[in-house]
Amino acid sequence: MQGKLYIVPTPIGNLEDITYRAVRILKEVDLILAEDTRTSSVLLRHYGIDRPLQSHHQFNEHRSVEFIMEKLLGGSVIALVSDAGTPGISDPGYLLIRECVRAGILVECLPGPTAFVPALVNSGIPSDHFIFEGFLPHKKGRHTRLQQLADEDKTMIFYESPFRLVKTLTQLAEFLGNERYACVSRELTKIYEENARGSLEELVRHFSSKTVKGEIVIIVAGRT
Ligand code: SAM
Repeated sequence: MQGKLYIVPTPIGNLEDITYRAVRILKEVDLILAEDTRTSSVLLRHYGIDRPLQSHHQFNEHRSVEFIMEKLLGGSVIALVSDAGTPGISDPGYLLIRECVRAGILVECLPGPTAFVPALVNSGIPSDHFIFEGFLPHKKGRHTRLQQLADEDKTMIFYESPFRLVKTLTQLAEFLGNERYACVSRELTKIYEENARGSLEELVRHFSSKTVKGEIVIIVAGRT
């Protein structure tokens, strides 16, 4: 019996954003690996999914890969979920998937929610060519990366926390220019979803005037 690893995207806010197939697979697998078992329990309970749950997160990823590989090689069918969106996108997943590929274990990633796609598409900024930066480094390498991005002509995608939003927008304005067009998507799919569009300078002003809360994607136009 061949084991198999399913990568299962889960909602980024609105619990309705999950596919029929994702729910079925989560109901059928031998084990669900979750970044935070408490967070995932809310979703699993909502859909009546009652399969064994085990934690697989950034801090135990290296250790837990060995144990999971044993199970997969023994024929288990396992699903990996993260707190929100698609595992492997600024979330754990890559290490385990790489091991499966090396060991010849089948890996199947279901299509589904991920925060950067709706942010990119509804920004109104060209979506034909883009680069996904995820979170900028906090300290080492941050300035170097911003310098490199000043010449980037593709649309740029960043993930950011509400506490760093104004600092990041200010630095983007410094390196890419005050007039560079951008869009900040906050709390996508949730009640207080906001998509703020304008120059980097305008966005700095907008978000400096209030306490920023929630989850954020920044889309920045490439150099023209
Ligand atoms: N795996 C996720 C995905 O597929 O998008 C990303 C996980 S990463 C740890 C979390 C970051 O994703 C947040 O800090 C934020 O930048 C972005 N994010 C997640 N949910 C979001 C939402 N509802 N609205 C805006 N950004 C979101």
